Amino acid sequence: MASFAPPHRTLEGMPEGDAIHHAAKRIGEALLGAEIESIETPKPRHRLDRWPERLAGRGVRAVDAHGKHLFIRFEGELTLHSHLRMGGRWSVHRRGERWGRAPRRAWLVIRTPAHEVVQFDGPVLELMADSRTRFDQALAGLGPDLLAPRFDEDAFLRRLREDDPTRTIGEALLDQRNLAGVGNLWKAEACFAARVDPWRPVRDVSDSEALRIVREARPPMLEAARSGFQAREPAVYGRRGLACRRCGTPIRARGQGDDNRTTYWCPSCQS
Ligand SMILES: [Zn+2]
Repeated sequence: MASFAPPHRTLEGMPEGDAIHHAAKRIGEALLGAEIESIETPKPRHRLDRWPERLAGRGVRAVDAHGKHLFIRFEGELTLHSHLRMGGRWSVHRRGERWGRAPRRAWLVIRTPAHEVVQFDGPVLELMADSRTRFDQALAGLGPDLLAPRFDEDAFLRRLREDDPTRTIGEALLDQRNLAGVGNLWKAEACFAARVDPWRPVRDVSDSEALRIVREARPPMLEAARSGFQAREPAVYGRRGLACRRCGTPIRARGQGDDNRTTYWCPSCQS
């Protein structure tokens, strides 16, 4: 199969930073240096935006990701910004190959002589001037990207300490203003690997513990972003009631934070 699936989809269906970085890599391979034959925005919502006309004749300069945000940068200072939220997906296909989802679910189709790059079900898709990608409040407010070539640990700690100290560490790790790229699966897995209870308030988590969590998350996420596959079975995520692989205690699961995302943890070896 020449199309690709993101490295993993969490049970709740939300792609995390590794999936988006992997998509950026695949999209870049298809678009950089290629002639852009056509750009289509099939949804009525985008029909008046005239993207095909505005982007006609422009090549793609770069494709990159920051956390869960993906950017396709065109010549002439125009950038397509996308965030997949819960159910969206990017895919890259050879011309003529079947897409993984129904064509009516496509929001954006970019064609080159060899490939079709498709965004499905993507609720955030906007064309912006490069100057705006630098100053857009939501984007400028993003925390350091855990999958950046060099992760800025100091910036992460600074932002974590500026956050509400009574919030749980599990919730704070999902806040993209503290740290960009971590979603529900990697949050649970990294807290387990670092032996930190995700329900502990941020004020009771030391700097070295917070760094241990992100240092546990980064290598497997980088590997998944590179390969497109998650190498290991989750240790706790999705394993409610099953025996902890470390100590045998049944794994617990409960909704956490304002968004009530299910968090998984071992009540005995994470304290
Ligand atoms: Zn355990």
